[in-house]
Amino acid sequence: FGCAAERNLLTSGMAKTTAPFTEAAPLGAGLKPSGDANPVFAPMDGSTKVGTVRFADSETARLAVENAQKGFEKWSRRPVEERAAAIDKVGDLLEANRDRLMTILSLEAGKCLTDGIAEIREAVDFCRYYAAEARNLFGEGKLMPGPTGEENRYRYRGRGVFVCISPWNFPLAIFLGQISAALMAGNAVVAKPAEQTPLIAYETAKLMYQAGIPEDVFYLLPGEGDVGAALTSHPAVAGVAFTGSTETAWLINGTLAAKRGPIVPLVAETGGINAMIVDATALPEQVCDDVMMSAFRSAGQRCSALRLLYVQEDVADHLLDMLEGAAKELSLGDPRLPSTDIGPVIDEEARDNILSHVDDMKESQKLRYAGKTPHGKLANGSWVAPHIIELDKAEALTREVFGPVLHVVRYKAGDLDKVLNQIAGTGYGLTLGVHSRIDATVKKVVDRLSVGNVYVNRNTIGAVVGTQPFGGSGLSGTGPKAGGPAYLYRFALEQVVSINTAAAG
Ligand code: NAD
Repeated sequence: FGCAAERNLLTSGMAKTTAPFTEAAPLGAGLKPSGDANPVFAPMDGSTKVGTVRFADSETARLAVENAQKGFEKWSRRPVEERAAAIDKVGDLLEANRDRLMTILSLEAGKCLTDGIAEIREAVDFCRYYAAEARNLFGEGKLMPGPTGEENRYRYRGRGVFVCISPWNFPLAIFLGQISAALMAGNAVVAKPAEQTPLIAYETAKLMYQAGIPEDVFYLLPGEGDVGAALTSHPAVAGVAFTGSTETAWLINGTLAAKRGPIVPLVAETGGINAMIVDATALPEQVCDDVMMSAFRSAGQRCSALRLLYVQEDVADHLLDMLEGAAKELSLGDPRLPSTDIGPVIDEEARDNILSHVDDMKESQKLRYAGKTPHGKLANGSWVAPHIIELDKAEALTREVFGPVLHVVRYKAGDLDKVLNQIAGTGYGLTLGVHSRIDATVKKVVDRLSVGNVYVNRNTIGAVVGTQPFGGSGLSGTGPKAGGPAYLYRFALEQVVSINTAAAG
């Protein structure tokens, strides 16, 4: 996937890079390291030690929120230009440390080079985009029209301490995207990265301090779900940004409601059962490339990844043959090598979960293709090869399977409405693809479904900051879209200041 020449140029010699050893621990003013240092192993072989991590506990979570409240008072009063300059600097430091970050992404998260390059780029773009947006949005505020003798000023300010909880599949870009937005809106932040990827979060946090974000304004708490729960249940939390599974978003909603405290915003970006519809007029080679990219890039571990492919029955046999042929060409292996297309899945639990789904499906559905996993030194890694499963009906797929498993279902010409109803019936609304050269078909698909990101005659791997803002609806999240013009507003408090100017001294 991606451009091989670019990978070679940017990363020549990467595979020889020795593992950067990182000792991650909670960070922030007033926190003391505690707890055991647990080893972090690379998912590609299960034995290369990439670093260690000390997880936070609920007492550290309490302390971090309370200390960050003090940091918020200072940070929210800083001129927006100063806050923006610090976030821009984080972007510069990410670029300057790209090779090291990339090696950690490959070792800790199993990211291939193309994915690592794209992820670092995305993280930099988030910093620059939110800094630029904040320069327009914050400051003195906007004067509203009103009667003589009265001044009405409409402005935005920070809310307080925002908790940012992120997943492992974009452990740099999503992690930093949430944090940079929350900071730019004038909040202090306590961030909890995914338990599977504490090292890249720790390295990034150190760069943030280096860029001038104060240690009582940004806290990093590596930890498991219990730390996330301790943070969201703290009464002083002013908002939560969460990206992860729909199940966890439900839990967080429950925790926020159970406090019987202030009603605070929850920005939740969750999962999807993403579909693509291919009719008989679509261009087969284009469809094949786009399906490979959408279903198997990043080992299918993208929230936007294609899970359910609807193919008009007249062209289904031909397309399935092409897909099988193309899937055979994908190479699984050491994610640091330029020749590798697919790295490991994140851990053994994820591998077992995906493979047990495949086993269940094999009982009742048709397994069209199962690829091969690496041998030798990598044999003990968390590997799942690409799979293609033909379903007799779309309803056989009932959950998001977060790995390289493509489900294909045939539909009859004239059944497009039925297909659209089935997709709507999943309750998810994240990404949707349509391949057709009939304008009316494309329009119908685009207009009918409340899906956040729709891709026409292309792959579903998008989410480009400032160009394709990304986010879903329904079971896929609350919006607003990350990397889009509305995102910062959700982290900020609106305030209207009305002054009787006639009474001014
Ligand atoms: P997850 O829900 O298991 O974990 C996400 C984060 O929530 C982790 O940091 C975890 O420790 C934390 N957490 C777990 N229990 C918690 C609790 N009770 N309270 C607070 N925090 C808690 O998700 P994951 O496996 O890390 O990520 C994969 C999921 O994320 C997939 O469903 C994928 O579709 C989704 N995702 C969505 C987007 C998007 O933009 N919509 C982007 C990336 C990933």
